[in-house]
Amino acid sequence: MAKNTDKDLLKDKGFLSQRQDDYFSMRLHAAGGNLTSDYLRAVADAADRYGKGYVHVTSRQGIEIPFVHLENTDAASEQMNSAGIGPGASGKKIRAVVACQGDRVCKRGLIDCQGICEKIDKLYFGKPVPYKFKIAVTGCPASCLKVQENDFGIMGFTDPVFIEENCVMCRLCEKACEMSAITIDNGSLYLDMHKCVSCGLCVKACRKDAMQVKGQGYTIFVGGKVGKRPRMGDMFFRTGNEEVVFDILEKTIDYYRENALEGERLGDVIDRCGLDQFGETIKYSRQK
Ligand code: SF4
Ligand code: SF4
Ligand code: SF4
Repeated sequence: MAKNTDKDLLKDKGFLSQRQDDYFSMRLHAAGGNLTSDYLRAVADAADRYGKGYVHVTSRQGIEIPFVHLENTDAASEQMNSAGIGPGASGKKIRAVVACQGDRVCKRGLIDCQGICEKIDKLYFGKPVPYKFKIAVTGCPASCLKVQENDFGIMGFTDPVFIEENCVMCRLCEKACEMSAITIDNGSLYLDMHKCVSCGLCVKACRKDAMQVKGQGYTIFVGGKVGKRPRMGDMFFRTGNEEVVFDILEKTIDYYRENALEGERLGDVIDRCGLDQFGETIKYSRQK
């Protein structure tokens, strides 16, 4: 049977102990849910050879091969490494980034989620943190990747502006808006920015250039988590500049490393110290 120290070493290599003695679920590195056919073939081969011929897709778009026996862990690692697939992260590390298909594929996508995901993954995947740090990128306010449940979330946004002189009152924007933020009555169009969630669908729907882009970019959420004590992330900042997103991410990770007590997630630190203190420390003020 594997000793506890062995289990720690194995965990570092992506092998998570199972309820069955000497069997491990082999977690593999995968970011953003886009897996190449070569990746899938290598994983399928390893699952046949070292597991039970199936894989488990994790809640964070990752892949695990369950039922790898202790005796086969080195060989399975070597096979994966030779295919260019490293171990997934667990424990006190920055986890693999999750992302939707964004504007490369999804009609509603407002940002390049996969591109941002790749950059973040290269910079931060597996880096040490006080507890856990999860990052998500989602292409629009539909939030398919649930950025509000992550320590750091990036969401695409588009703010509309109404150009009255171009409007022919065709109502396409009114039909497109799922938030009832646009109403047309008595020949007048009213855009209620209190109801608007900045999805940009009205801009896409308008064929007369009467609903235009006022602003677009990235909305940043901080401090989200699920688990036994869930907490929705706080909407913190909006910017049209990708470099600012990366600057805030780096400063947020530094803040977390410097301020977290034992076992605290970023949201716990923010609850204890305050969102204003967080903003002052990283030198960005919360936008409301
Ligand atoms: S979050 Fe938006 S862009 Fe991403 S998959 Fe969902 S609808 Fe598409
Ligand atoms: S951006 Fe989206 S929510 Fe806002 S008015 Fe347009 S369609 Fe409605
Ligand atoms: S879709 Fe464009 S033209 Fe039609 S009502 Fe809306 S703003 Fe006016």
